[in-house]
Amino acid sequence: MSSSRIAIRLALFILALLSLHASGTTADKPITSWDKSLASPAGGTSDQGGIKEIIPAKYSSRYLAWKKDFLSTQAGTDQWAFYENNPQFTLTITISADNAEGASTGKYHWDQSGKLVAATITLGSRLDAGYPNPIYFPVMNSLVATEQYVPVSGNTLAATKIAHEFGHVLRTAQVDAQLYQLQSQLIPQYNKIFLNNGRRADDPRLLELVKQMGGTPVTIWEDREYWGETNAMLYLRDRITENSMRCFLFSRIRHSIDLYAKQYETRFFEIARSNPSTKLCGWQ
Ligand SMILES: [Zn+2]
Repeated sequence: MSSSRIAIRLALFILALLSLHASGTTADKPITSWDKSLASPAGGTSDQGGIKEIIPAKYSSRYLAWKKDFLSTQAGTDQWAFYENNPQFTLTITISADNAEGASTGKYHWDQSGKLVAATITLGSRLDAGYPNPIYFPVMNSLVATEQYVPVSGNTLAATKIAHEFGHVLRTAQVDAQLYQLQSQLIPQYNKIFLNNGRRADDPRLLELVKQMGGTPVTIWEDREYWGETNAMLYLRDRITENSMRCFLFSRIRHSIDLYAKQYETRFFEIARSNPSTKLCGWQ
């Protein structure tokens, strides 16, 4: 990775640290305030299983339209059914006016054996607007309108963001619970030291934390986000059935990944190839 790219990532991450408690976001604000998954690492309970939708009445109609769009795809239907019919996992979905164009996933809860048993997805009340940046969110960003491209509907944009959040839940259930919790515990310590030591990543205290966490906060965070994006791409693969439009989006995604996320290319490549009847759109 070039030093300028490292500098850009570092700058974005520092902005993220400073904006974790900011509410609301737009496409030109630091995208890391878009998704506050690092900010709510633990909590929640599982006592009934299934999907618990806690939607204020004033948001009900828009939520139902977003959900309908998500469920109009095979990927969305399968994932919804997986959680709805799972008595050992409680997925709570709610809507908040904070971080209105974004969403977050957190309140993770594990049982004693380390199995993930609960999570909460909080959707922004204006989820159908706003595009995160291409560095960490190459899939959602691919939907940005251009002169040549008629944008997808707000409902599809919102459903893409829902798919991103489902991606976080699916991934967190696969990773080592102890490591995830250790990361959640140590990342704030790392950030505190980093912001107070002149932002020197070679500080021995930070190097020790990196060893324990298996990465820096930036690498841990971006890995999680790219898993969310992988699931968003899976949804779009099924949602955009017209070949030329899907190819347009897929080549945009590929362009952003080439520029910013080359080392994560494989997971996106697998999505592009996952449906044998789908054109590869330049991903072969
Ligand atoms: Zn995310």
